[in-house]
Formats: sequence, structure tokens, C-alpha cells
Amino acid sequence: MTTRSIHWFREDLRLSDNPSLFEACKSGHVIPIYIHDNCSTPELGKVSRWWLHHSLAKLDKSLDGKLRIFTGDTTDILMQVITQYGVHKVFWNKVYSPEQFDLDVQVISLLSEKNILYETYNASLMWEPSQILNQSDLPYKVFTPFFKKGCLSAPEPRYPLGLPDLKMIDDVPVPPSKSLDLVGENDLNRTLGSYWSVGEDNAVSQLNMFITRGLDNYKIGRDFPSLFNVSKLSPYLHFGEISPNQVWYTVLKSNKEFGMDADKFLSELAWREFSYYLLYHFPSLPQENLQSRFNYFPWESNTENLVKWQAGITGYPIVDAGMRELMETGYMHNRLRMIVGSFLIKNLLIHWHHGRDWFWNHLADADIANNSAGWQWIAGCGADAAPFFRVFNPILQGKKFDPDGAYTKTYIPELQNLPAEYLFNPWEAPQNILDQSGIILGKDYPLPIVDLKMSRIRALKAFDHIKIDK
Ligand SMILES: Cc1cc2nc3c(=O)[nH]c(=O)nc-3n(C[C@H](O)[C@H](O)[C@H](O)COP(=O)(O)OP(=O)(O)OC[C@H]3O[C@@H](n4cnc5c(N)ncnc54)[C@H](O)[C@@H]3O)c2cc1C
Repeated sequence: MTTRSIHWFREDLRLSDNPSLFEACKSGHVIPIYIHDNCSTPELGKVSRWWLHHSLAKLDKSLDGKLRIFTGDTTDILMQVITQYGVHKVFWNKVYSPEQFDLDVQVISLLSEKNILYETYNASLMWEPSQILNQSDLPYKVFTPFFKKGCLSAPEPRYPLGLPDLKMIDDVPVPPSKSLDLVGENDLNRTLGSYWSVGEDNAVSQLNMFITRGLDNYKIGRDFPSLFNVSKLSPYLHFGEISPNQVWYTVLKSNKEFGMDADKFLSELAWREFSYYLLYHFPSLPQENLQSRFNYFPWESNTENLVKWQAGITGYPIVDAGMRELMETGYMHNRLRMIVGSFLIKNLLIHWHHGRDWFWNHLADADIANNSAGWQWIAGCGADAAPFFRVFNPILQGKKFDPDGAYTKTYIPELQNLPAEYLFNPWEAPQNILDQSGIILGKDYPLPIVDLKMSRIRALKAFDHIKIDK
């Protein structure tokens, strides 16, 4: 009798370079399952649910309709499938977050109790966070030594595996696959579907398209949101439709052609590793300031300003463009994530948790490690963070990184006719220019909700309270 195994899909929604699935298939016949555990925290945001829904549908198709999708308690469901189908062994790829590690502990204890074998793998990180330590055997807190001394001097990342030799169990009456209704009745499908093509095959196409059209000039172009120099691979990486190893080695092969641009891209990919590394060594990263002095920061509670920031009506065009890009597409360019984050935290003095939650709900790439690390970085309270006193000036940022206004005008079409000179500061435009551009400020486009200079001074004063570590 051949071995019957479960491959438990998690954030590894692909067939290629999937170590757990690969090994499960080598060991015998496999039942591929996915469990949507209602108790997982934090609950998925609506854009993530949309992506997951379509990703599972694509995966099911590539498994000839044999993916078994369940909703409920993970341990109960695993035991139910094991007992019902006489499963000998369970295989899965780890998810590197504190909640999922806790879940692994529960699953492992249950399997051990029932004498069921199991194997776990790493399919989402190139370097095991536990194996990269500094000379004092402590975790790195600064990116450059983490990457250069830690990762690059450790053994090279695993070379990607090919497709597994799929042998699925079809001699047992496994119930037909049930799709998860994660999308519901809304127009997300129409809008997001026009921006994204979900699934493993599309992840590979996205990577190839980026290498052909975007990698050249990545080092500089990645900061300009109207250029096509970023990969937009983040949601594919988050859901595991492509592995970082596949991305790493594909880009490495093009290193001769793209030199410094390829190196820069690989180091950005390593920032993702760094976020997971921080989450591994500092599991409270999503909630707590890594620098404890920020626990005493005098945040403001101003719902009106928060709602205006969320809706992209702050009166600062580059900030509003970023927030509207997020609502429209489920994505925001990294330069904009920094600008809108700095504006929320520093100009509005609103706690980074509010930004974290909004992003979590609206980003297709919403990711517990990258989102938490990104917000801590911009707030200045994280490891290797931007210093708090570095307050992004949204006018200068707009002029520098969107010089012809192409990006801003895409998302703020009401400012379409405003000359570039005033695009990022329309309240300073002379009345005749506003008239010629067909804009009534306060009606067609809002007046600024805060004064830049005053709010910057207020932020720096607030920072004075915590300058000394308490
Ligand atoms: C406040 C804030 C919140 C963020 N939230 C998330 C999030 O929830 N999910 C997420 O994936 N990224 C997040 N980031 C990081 C970064 O903005 C995105 O990874 C990047 O914009 C994704 O676009 P891309 O794939 O086109 O990037 P590219 O420039 O093409 O980079 C390739 C890949 O490298 C990784 N990467 C690039 N920059 C970073 C970075 N600064 N930190 C970590 N990994 C990086 C990503 O996996 C990305 O897909 C956040 C950044 C900030 C400042």
C-alpha cells in the first residue's frame, strides 16, 4: 500500500518550487487541502480575501479540481481528513508569523499524540531567521549588516525546485472541492480584476515582464511612481504564488545585463527577509514599538483628519494620489507608502496603528511582517528606522518624484489642468491660474487640512518628549 499524505497549502499557493508538496509527492499519493481557519488573526482584509479567493480557484484548476477547501478549526479538520482517508503523513510549509507558529505547535502535538508522521519545510524565506545572527549570537537590528554579513555570508538560498510528480488520491470518495466565498457581493471584482491577474502562471509572467521592461533603471526608477520600474510582485510573494528563491535566481541570471539595477532589486527583496527576520526575533512587532521610548509619544486622536487621510482628501495632492491609488488598485507605490505614512504620523500626529490597519484592509500585498515593519520604519520606532525628525515634505516629494505630475493627475483628475508649478501646492496658485484650470479650492479639491510648517514644528516638539530613552 502506498503512503497517503496530506499537503496542507497555506501561504504557498503554487505547484513549482514548493518543497513540502514536492516531498509529499515523492513519498506517495497526496490529498491537497486548504483550510480557511476562521480563528486566524488578524482577520484578512477585503482585498486580501479577493486575492485569496481567486488564487485558490487558480490553484484548484492546476490540481485538476482536486484541491479540498475547508473552513473551520485547523486541528479538527486535519484530524477529520486523516481519519476519514487513512492518512499516514502530513506535509506543510511553515508560515513565519507568531500566530502560525503557535498553530504549528498545536498541530504537531496532536499529530504526535496520534502517531501520525509529519514534515515541515521553508518555502517562503531564502534564509532561516534563526540561523542569521551577529558575532554575539544576537539578532541583527540593522539591515545592511543583516544582509551583507548575515545573509550573504550564509549558505546560498535553496535553488528552486521544479514541478512535483503529482500523484493525487482519487480512489477515495473525497467530497468535491468547495470554493470559499470570500468575495461576496461587491464591485471589487470589477475594479481589482482590471489591475491584477492572480495565480502562479501570472506571477511568473509578471516577473518576466518586469525583467524585460522594468529592471533596467530599477535603482533610480523605483522611486518614480509614474515609471514602470517596480515589479508589483508583492501580492504574488505574499500568497506564495511565486517563491523568493524563484525571483532571486531569475534576477541573478540577468545580473550581467542589469548590474547595479539587479543588485538593488535583490537587496529590496532582502528587505522582505529582514521584515520576517524582525518578526521572528521580535514577535510583538505588529503591535509594539520596537523602541520602547515611543510608548510615551503624545499621539493625537483626530478622527476627522484620519478619515480625510483614508479618503485621500487631505488637500495635499501627492498624499491624496497615493491614498486613492490604494483604494482604486489595492496597491500603493513604495515611495507613496513612505509619503502618506510620514504625513499621517508626523503631520497629523496619528498613531501608526491606524495606518497599519488601513493598509491591512486595502492592500493586495497586506503582509503581517512587511506592513508592521514598514509602519515602524516610517514612524521611526522600528529597527533601522527612518529617524522621526525626517518629516517628508509632500510638496518637495511631489516635485522631485512626480516632476511632470503624471502619477498625481492619474488619481486626482480634478487637478488635470493645473500647471506643474502649483500641482503639489494648489492653495498657493494665484486666483487667475485656479480660474483658468477650472478649480474652486474647497469645492473641486480640498484646502489643506493642516499647515505643513506648523505641523512639522508640532511633530518635532512631540518628539522632544521622548528623545531620552525611558
Ligand atoms: C508603511 C509601509 C507599509 C508597507 N506594507 C507592506 C505590506 O503590507 N506588504 C508588502 O509586501 N510590502 C509592504 N511594504 C514594503 C514595500 O512598500 C512593498 O513591498 C513594495 O512597494 C511592493 O511593490 P513591488 O513588489 O512593486 O516592489 P519592488 O520594488 O519591485 O520590490 C520587489 C519585492 O521586494 C520586497 N520589498 C521591496 N521593498 C520592500 C520594503 N521596503 N520592505 C519589505 N519588502 C520590500 C517586496 O517583496 C517586493 O515585492 C510597506 C512599506 C511601507 C513604507
